[in-house]
Amino acid sequence: MQATQGLDQHDPNQSPTTETPTITIEHHEDFRFRPDGVCGACGEPYGWFYSNVEGNLKGVPLIPRLCRCKREEAEAAHLRELRQKEIDRERAIERLRRDYLENLPRKLHECRVNNYRMWDGLNEKELASCSKAKSDVTGYIQSLRERRARGQGLIFYGTNGSGKSHLAAAIGSAAVAQGYSVQFLSARELIPELRNCDFGNTEPIMRPLKRCTFLIIDDLGTEDDTESAKSKIHELVKYRHDQMNPTIFTTNLRIEDVRDRYNPRTIDCIFESGLNQIIKIACKSYRQEVGVRTVLSSATSTASNMMATA
Ligand SMILES: [Zn+2]
Repeated sequence: MQATQGLDQHDPNQSPTTETPTITIEHHEDFRFRPDGVCGACGEPYGWFYSNVEGNLKGVPLIPRLCRCKREEAEAAHLRELRQKEIDRERAIERLRRDYLENLPRKLHECRVNNYRMWDGLNEKELASCSKAKSDVTGYIQSLRERRARGQGLIFYGTNGSGKSHLAAAIGSAAVAQGYSVQFLSARELIPELRNCDFGNTEPIMRPLKRCTFLIIDDLGTEDDTESAKSKIHELVKYRHDQMNPTIFTTNLRIEDVRDRYNPRTIDCIFESGLNQIIKIACKSYRQEVGVRTVLSSATSTASNMMATA
């Protein structure tokens, strides 16, 4: 597990501007142009603008004036620099994406908010619950910068197969695209992975999980129900909470069961002052319902085949 540093220090929404400031001091009464010479290539004078204001600066050269070919050279260099910054940023985002996908289950790679499906088997109340979850996640993604600054994460809870991991993974993809480092952790796999660490040194696993800007802890409560598992979850959640790094949880547990399961200090970090937004998805499981139908229909077709061949 490796973590590439996110691009947090940059404004993720800022795209480089190609505008160059227009300096209109040619005719400004506070300045006076004094040429040092004339360019042999473009024929324009170059030199300095001097202060024309009474006082200590009077007569001091303040702003250079370049001839046309030197101005064009400077502008071209500026544009090259902007392009290079954009290329560097794209490469950095590509590295962040690779890091994120490395630990993300393959079935979640393409999960986005716009392909979150609300299937036909849902009743009106369930549809409303899914739509609400979808719009909450859209809102979260749209205000990712502010959420990140506040350290605000999310807690998805609801039945198995209701699309919590899909929406959590969608947030991860959106965050990576905006230049944030994101890691995905299946709670169930944390302890087995830590057991494999050389000489009991768990930091190579824990460090990126602690330090990435957004961490998704999927299926909280499916890890071993032991003190050592709880202590590792606490270590992770506490560190991130103190650093104001947002954590996104998904769980099949009811909120009261989460509260019962973990120690109060862990619970403080997860629920403290209502910082983390809670999203409930109350709907039948697509996987289970469709799975049952598939089994039933294949059983029916097998039975009718048997009758046909009998
Ligand atoms: Zn010139």
